[in-house]
Amino acid sequence: MMDSARSSLVGGLDLKIEFDAPIGARTWFGIGGRTEMLIKPETEDSLATLLRRCHQSGTPVRVLGGGANLLVDDAGVDGIVLQLDHETFTRRRYNKDGEVDRMLAMAGADLFKMVNESARQGLDGISQLAGIPGTLGGALRMNAGGSFGDIGQAVESVSMLDMEGNRLELETEQLKFDYRKSNLPNGIILSAILHLQPDDPMAVRGRVREIFAQKSASQPMADSSAGCAFRNPSVEGTRLPAGRLIDEAGLKGLSVGGATVSDRHANFISTTPQATARDVMKLMKQVQQRVLEHCGTTIQPEVVIWCDDPGAPMP
Ligand SMILES: Cc1cc2nc3c(=O)[nH]c(=O)nc-3n(C[C@H](O)[C@H](O)[C@H](O)COP(=O)(O)OP(=O)(O)OC[C@H]3O[C@@H](n4cnc5c(N)ncnc54)[C@H](O)[C@@H]3O)c2cc1C
Repeated sequence: MMDSARSSLVGGLDLKIEFDAPIGARTWFGIGGRTEMLIKPETEDSLATLLRRCHQSGTPVRVLGGGANLLVDDAGVDGIVLQLDHETFTRRRYNKDGEVDRMLAMAGADLFKMVNESARQGLDGISQLAGIPGTLGGALRMNAGGSFGDIGQAVESVSMLDMEGNRLELETEQLKFDYRKSNLPNGIILSAILHLQPDDPMAVRGRVREIFAQKSASQPMADSSAGCAFRNPSVEGTRLPAGRLIDEAGLKGLSVGGATVSDRHANFISTTPQATARDVMKLMKQVQQRVLEHCGTTIQPEVVIWCDDPGAPMP
């Protein structure tokens, strides 16, 4: 991007810019390429103006949360990447409007912190997210959760900016959360009001610990991965665990370069620091094909893949 084009996007706005920023290295996979500009807005107004300018100039915009469900192509990505890690976008406020059972959290807030903090305060409603890494924004976009429930069940309302910088307020009756997806429109999630239930802090902390323990007993939490690589497919109205299908196809331990199907949980792909994003894509494609051959079911990626190359081996 020319200097003049850059300054017409960001001039006069409250934000920090990191040029030629490694994005892949900020994901939980720890691999992948860079962006020309990683932009960290400091106010909502600056973010809205930036989005409007990007829309007018046709500059692609992406938003990085905690990078816990993300694979970035080795060649990096075009346009700008946003990161909402300024305090403006990470705050949490409990007892919103004096009501003990409501919490206002900004989209860049860390999920681990939110879960532990609300447990300490004796508020439940998000203990089902124990052990799930990332930010609130990423969790809402993906409707993060598992067998104990998902974030959607706690959401009362969501504030967003659309890609032209207009503010959107979405209330419970307009929101639909489903298995690892939501009907949130394309745009930047700013914040959400969550509904929490007062309870004994010890009891909430006990639930968080129990859920975390069950998760770490079955998943390779310490590996570099993006959690489950594939969505559980729906077959005749029943969701089948993708991990079981991958295991039954005999694919545990299958590798491409530095990417391997975990021996511990077949739906996790673990990477070494030498792995490339293309190793992960190729491995996912092989897994997809072999599961289809073995059990006639197509599994689709759960991990979000940022890749601008139409010729890439996308699963
Ligand atoms: C070890 C491990 C275990 C995991 N276990 C689980 C699990 O049990 N259940 C589960 O559901 N997931 C799990 N995951 C996946 C991941 O934690 C979740 O998907 C999480 O919600 C991703 O949040 P993030 O902030 O890291 O999003 P990112 O990975 O950064 O981004 C994911 C998507 O959300 C979008 N996004 C992020 N922030 C915003 C925003 N403010 N506005 C609009 N869009 C946004 C991104 O653009 C991208 O499309 C696991 C991952 C790991 C590494």
